[in-house]
Amino acid sequence: MALIRLHALNRWFQGKEGERVRAIHDVSLCIEEGEFICITGPSGSGKSTLLNLLGGLDSASSGSYRLEGREICGLSSDALAILRRRTFGFVFQSFNLLGEATALENVEMPGRYAGLERSTRKKRAGALLDYMGLEEHAQRLAADLSGGEQQRVAIARALMNGGKVILADEPTQALDGESAALVLDVLERLSEKGHTVVLATHSGAIASRSPRCIELRNARIVSDSGREVAPARKGAARPPDHPTAGGVSAAIRQGLQSLLIRIRRHGRLGLILPTAGVALAVWLGCLALLLGEGIYARVVQSVNQVGMETITVMRTGQSGRDGRFKWLTRDDAIALEEEIVGVRAVSPAKFWPDMEIRHGDVSLSLNVVGVVDRGTRQGRGDAGYRMAAGKPITPHDDESLERVAVLDTVAQEQLFPSGTNPVGREIRINGVPFRVKGVYEYRRGLIGGLSEDEIRERQDFLNSLVHLPFRTAYNLFAQDDRVYWIYVFLEDPDQLYEVGTAIRNLGIRRYGEEVYFVEHWGETHQQALRQRELMRMGLGFLAGIVMLVVNFSVMAMMLNSIRTRRGEIGIRMAVGARQRDISWQFMTESIAISVAGATAGYLLVLVCIPLLNSLGYPSGVPTLIWAPLVIALFSGLVFSIVPARRAARLDPVVALAG
Ligand code: ADP
Ligand code: MG
Repeated sequence: MALIRLHALNRWFQGKEGERVRAIHDVSLCIEEGEFICITGPSGSGKSTLLNLLGGLDSASSGSYRLEGREICGLSSDALAILRRRTFGFVFQSFNLLGEATALENVEMPGRYAGLERSTRKKRAGALLDYMGLEEHAQRLAADLSGGEQQRVAIARALMNGGKVILADEPTQALDGESAALVLDVLERLSEKGHTVVLATHSGAIASRSPRCIELRNARIVSDSGREVAPARKGAARPPDHPTAGGVSAAIRQGLQSLLIRIRRHGRLGLILPTAGVALAVWLGCLALLLGEGIYARVVQSVNQVGMETITVMRTGQSGRDGRFKWLTRDDAIALEEEIVGVRAVSPAKFWPDMEIRHGDVSLSLNVVGVVDRGTRQGRGDAGYRMAAGKPITPHDDESLERVAVLDTVAQEQLFPSGTNPVGREIRINGVPFRVKGVYEYRRGLIGGLSEDEIRERQDFLNSLVHLPFRTAYNLFAQDDRVYWIYVFLEDPDQLYEVGTAIRNLGIRRYGEEVYFVEHWGETHQQALRQRELMRMGLGFLAGIVMLVVNFSVMAMMLNSIRTRRGEIGIRMAVGARQRDISWQFMTESIAISVAGATAGYLLVLVCIPLLNSLGYPSGVPTLIWAPLVIALFSGLVFSIVPARRAARLDPVVALAG
């Protein structure tokens, strides 16, 4: 069976004026394995077109092409790519090497697409370069080699996957006499070793050396010297095609390698800018999440000190017909207790600044607060009132006018510097003796938005109160009937909104207008959620815009690079890359930028976290922190699809033409 059998093969092209140009006209031809054939004819006679058809780079318009008995006409582009990879090796007039890749990398390339394992591939490529007498040039960039050397690298590349059929299109045209002779020698030697060699040339001298010569004129075969050598050779040895050829991981490696080659060619700047852009977008996105979370956490902490089951009632500012500032009174507290349903306890609170507190030799000026109840403080963080020692003030203490006090931590430390247990001891407040009933734990997280030191200072101040039963303090120290605020403790924390409304309505009933200003966890929490959302939307939107701009420019860059990289794409296709190999290569290049950018962005975030903390934003990893990464990778992938498809769909012959 003939290796190659063409029957009435035609190839038409669309001419400049839309007319049909026939580049191959009814060509019938038989080639046996191991033949050395020369195709001659003047320029434009169709030699290159015939070679491209033979090698599956181009498809015939009509007719039949059988390779080893199998019909090739009508095969898909991927099937043709596999055919090129397994059977053919191209040698071009202009060498068509990747100039920025080394000689070794160029020779290896077909092996990559064939899925050859790395070490096998390197060894084989090295051996082929040795065979071509180029062992010393393996690590040199192809562009730095002489023409003759480059053409021998190209032949080595053609042999990488076996090179059962070598198709050489004017391989000596661009070479000086000596190099040309060397290249011809190599091709003849290959033919002797069993490779089938088809060589197109318009040089009569070369044609006269070859055992079989086919002459083309105006797209037709006008003469065939016929076979002189019996096709008894058994054909060239071919390394088995690897079953994993063309896997995704191979494609990714291919993409990374081509990225390296690109960096060699264009320098790093072209990649650094888009990478920095992605980094900026990811950084902004993370910042939006971190700041939003920080703001939220701050509000939640400040709510913590009051409690989730607590409503704080205050009097709205300027009020009353006389225009004087009005305060809450004890009557308000009584009305709240009597008229509002679902209330467990009501505690008016009044404040006396700078009272004289004395214990033994120690005399201090501290703030005193009168309360009835500090609430149960259920379900709260470490900012609530918790007993460090002793018991809290109770409604019973208030009713029976007990002279008892509960100290905050800092007040206790200052009054009892020796560290004795203050519970049960006597202190004097403006000369009146009180028994210390308990000590509160230090409360944190009361303040945000300041430096650590400032927070510490103010927190200490807030933790130096002396708490007394409201009525005891009122009877002893009050000069007016003002109540600063009223705590309302609910039986059921889920009723915050209902009770809040009931309190407002009570104010309207009592005063004819809304005088009760109501503050509770529900509203504050919602406000915090709104602020977090605002931060996320604002910065997140900015991050999105940056991401979009970056991705569009990466896409434009990739599309633009297709134009300058046509030759490279053509070469890759000629050595057997399928469309999807090219797609994956381009996508990998884009995604590599996204990955590098996202990594840099996250590193930048890590640097910023201590900075945020020092500005008073509590740190915590927001649950959505992975979102910017996913968005970066996903959008990188999406925006790489168009360039990838466009590159993959190039016609190999057109791409090779540059
Ligand atoms: P040769 O290699 O013998 O110089 P070619 O095979 O390159 O000849 O070209 C044969 C003919 O086909 C020429 O007339 C050429 O102009 C035409 N041709 C080749 N490729 C194309 C193409 N892509 N579009 C239009 N015409 C083409
Ligand atoms: Mg030609």
